[in-house]
Amino acid sequence: MSIDRPTKILTAIDLDADGKRFGALVVPYSRNDSAWGSVRIPIVVIRNGDGPTALLIAGNHGDEYEGQIALRDLARALDPIDVTGTVIILPGLNFPAVRAATRCSPIDGGNMNRSFPGSADGAVTSMIAHYVATVLVPRADLVLDLHSGGKTLDFVPFAATHRLPDKAQEARAIAAVEAFAAPISVVMLELDAEGMLDTWVESLGKLFVTTELAGGGSSTRRSNQVAAVGVRNVLKHMGILAGEPEIVTPTRLLDMPDERCFVAAEHTGIHEPLVDLGDDVSEGQPVARIHFLDEPSRDPAVYVARRNGVLIGRHFPGLVQSGDFLASVGIDL
Ligand code: CA
Repeated sequence: MSIDRPTKILTAIDLDADGKRFGALVVPYSRNDSAWGSVRIPIVVIRNGDGPTALLIAGNHGDEYEGQIALRDLARALDPIDVTGTVIILPGLNFPAVRAATRCSPIDGGNMNRSFPGSADGAVTSMIAHYVATVLVPRADLVLDLHSGGKTLDFVPFAATHRLPDKAQEARAIAAVEAFAAPISVVMLELDAEGMLDTWVESLGKLFVTTELAGGGSSTRRSNQVAAVGVRNVLKHMGILAGEPEIVTPTRLLDMPDERCFVAAEHTGIHEPLVDLGDDVSEGQPVARIHFLDEPSRDPAVYVARRNGVLIGRHFPGLVQSGDFLASVGIDL
């Protein structure tokens, strides 16, 4: 790990000047079809004087779209005169994955959100993570990383943060999540937090807000609206934009206290959801069945909720493999 080495990523963009600038982070990527080639990561900086800095990210996973749409719209629309402080926007962070409509990078297989804090001389995904971790995150007071379910998951639109050892930091993060004002807010449990941007930002004592806004490798009118309103709400909450957060529907705050909030598949076959996203579920209630492809005479395997709560996430495709995530339940706080 060479976290302390300087980045090899070049950029002409000025992070400190007033005004609005569109630019690129240029990541060296020498390969057969482009010997002195590079990957260009779009970046937008909007600054107006002193004030807080928000780092807004989408396309951390390439097949998640609400954030990519909302941040492109925001970047074009924001007038520096309406900003107090700085907004740094990365609308397509793992750009090779964005271009390929895949979760992970087609260049090096890198899952951006398991690559932090990255390495200055690692593969492309790791170099991008390292730049964000060592150049951009230290400047930020708040990082908003917009995720959705991608091709394999689907979610009721929610904003989220995590249980943190520093309870004052946790309370400030929950307040920022509530300001996003998605229909649901979640204090989320991560089963695999190592290498996540979330974990890196939180370890530096900074505010971190993430989302899961829908999924299936596409977006909807409703989920795009939640993203567009939520992004501006967080900037208002930080004092970067004027005005109070816009509340479309009062948010329902949910907790994920332990791994019983998750249901995992132990069979392979056809996935039949028995509960829709946003529906209330009770412990022991069947939430999904898996039909055995080669054994029509066999009764399907039944999966039950292990908690009382709300179905907030589920497996998306029609086929499911043993080991796949099947469903998740949030508990009212
Ligand atoms: Ca994601």
